[in-house]
Amino acid sequence: MAANEPPKPADFIREIITEDIETKKYESRVHTRFPPEPNGYLHIGHAKSICLNFGIARDFNGQCNLRFDDTNPTKEEVEYVESIKEDVRWLGFDWDDRLFYASDYFEQLYQYAVLLIRKGKAYVCDLTPDEIREYRGTLTEPGKNSPYRGRSVEENLDLLSRMRAGEFENGSRTLRAKIDMSSGNINMRDPVMFRVLRAEHHRTGDKWCIYPMYDYAHCVSDSLEGITHSLCTLEFEDHRPLYDWFLNELGIYHPRQIEFARLNLSNTVLSKRKLIQLVRDGSVSGWDDPRMPTIAGIRRRGYTPESVRNFCDRIGVAKRDSTVDIALLEYCVREDLNKRVPRVMAVLRPLKVVIDNYPEDLLEELDAVNNPEDPSMGTRKVPFSRVLYIEKDDFREDPPKQFFRLAPGREVRLRYAYYITCVGVIKDERTAEVTELRCTYDPKTRGGDSPDGRKVKATLHWVSAGHSREAEVRLYDHLILEAGPGEEREGRDFKDLLNPNSLELLESCRIEPGLGAALPGGRYQFERLGYFCVDPDSTPEKLVFNRTATLRDTWAKIEKGKKK
Ligand code: ATP
Ligand code: MG
Repeated sequence: MAANEPPKPADFIREIITEDIETKKYESRVHTRFPPEPNGYLHIGHAKSICLNFGIARDFNGQCNLRFDDTNPTKEEVEYVESIKEDVRWLGFDWDDRLFYASDYFEQLYQYAVLLIRKGKAYVCDLTPDEIREYRGTLTEPGKNSPYRGRSVEENLDLLSRMRAGEFENGSRTLRAKIDMSSGNINMRDPVMFRVLRAEHHRTGDKWCIYPMYDYAHCVSDSLEGITHSLCTLEFEDHRPLYDWFLNELGIYHPRQIEFARLNLSNTVLSKRKLIQLVRDGSVSGWDDPRMPTIAGIRRRGYTPESVRNFCDRIGVAKRDSTVDIALLEYCVREDLNKRVPRVMAVLRPLKVVIDNYPEDLLEELDAVNNPEDPSMGTRKVPFSRVLYIEKDDFREDPPKQFFRLAPGREVRLRYAYYITCVGVIKDERTAEVTELRCTYDPKTRGGDSPDGRKVKATLHWVSAGHSREAEVRLYDHLILEAGPGEEREGRDFKDLLNPNSLELLESCRIEPGLGAALPGGRYQFERLGYFCVDPDSTPEKLVFNRTATLRDTWAKIEKGKKK
């Protein structure tokens, strides 16, 4: 694409924006915002919204604000604010000096409320929350007017200022917009704008004892910040008339709200409420547990920001709800790591192998390729000696037909090393478990090549027993057992669907010695096993790795299946 050429619209939102620029709406400006409520950690669904809002700003030479929608003091915490900032930055986006809080606008929201009262468009209501619900009606029945709807402007102004001054109990009075109690759209039936709530706010402290409701605060915040396109998820489609009503009645700058489908992902839950539950009851180790679909969790799991952005690009933006297979997310991280990270050898479930004809005191440093996809990553030396470990799964005493790896009398290749043949099996007398293999090696096959064209059907990874380091490896599987949005299954608690085997701890793994200095965040491919990263729990004494993803590529299979 040439430098000054406008980006090709890739989705319906970019199409709308392209048209708005052409018709000089908003003076051809593009200004979006990402408006999280700081009531939990961000998840991969939020990443979709972040990539969309910041991505549009980037693509159209516009700006994107980060705005905390902090209108609900009882559920919000500074910890969440900090984590959200860290996550947006980690994803590679920057709000420069445009960090805002809805709480910055409380005074303005109050003044605008006074204005609406003066216009006869808002009133103080004494109905209790239960009564308000009762009066609201249902989808099929119109609501009833509140008996307080006819209060005079003076009385309303007086009551609102006394609400603010703290004269009334929590929940005893509200300020409501005067719209239409018989509207087909329930959101338009005199929605609450301010409620009495004595709660310490993480920014405004106890300055306020009335707090604005989301629908009122959001459109005004967008307006005050000069947002041009206010992008939100589909459940706000029915709120758009209210968004427009407030801004029209106030007669202030009017951004355009556009709705898109939220991300649903198979085998997990994407809802802060449910994720909080998992954290609180200890189903996971915290918000950053590598099984969590939170940004903090997938970061700790070893995902790269590039892979998450790439995922968001691939799923695109649409107007209809759908569920994305989690295999696509896994595919994106594999695709990224495959090319970038070094390959090393690690044995997760070690089985001892003694090479009978290899000299006891010999140590060879063999050349191993760091990444065959990228020769510039070079080679390294790995130590080879008489006693090795291979993977337990790579040996069968009684191999089934399709099993080509090591078995009694069979020859296989040890990667970058030698051909070996199994000549003996040692077992625990009591349990009959195989504890050690005796093998011989062919010195002429050094480097893993046969001099006489002799073929072997398997290549195994291995480590030298005396030189390898011990490590703990944490294997993760899906959090939720069933595919499909675990969230929407009616009548069932999502916790019944939790995968009891989502974490498997392997405490005596062996890794090649070069990894001894691996630092938290370091990423590797363990040959034949998958992608792994060093966990923050790791110390030089006790190395800890997380499995980011297996090598098995279910997504590629799904894609292939579709093409047929
Ligand atoms: P949750 O439903 O997980 O509690 P939320 O919508 O309450 O999330 P907010 O903090 O209000 O969370 O969301 C901030 C922004 O992220 C909003 O614009 C919201 O529409 C968007 N968002 C939240 N969840 C998703 C999702 N699954 N897919 C796309 N965008 C999302
Ligand atoms: Mg929300």
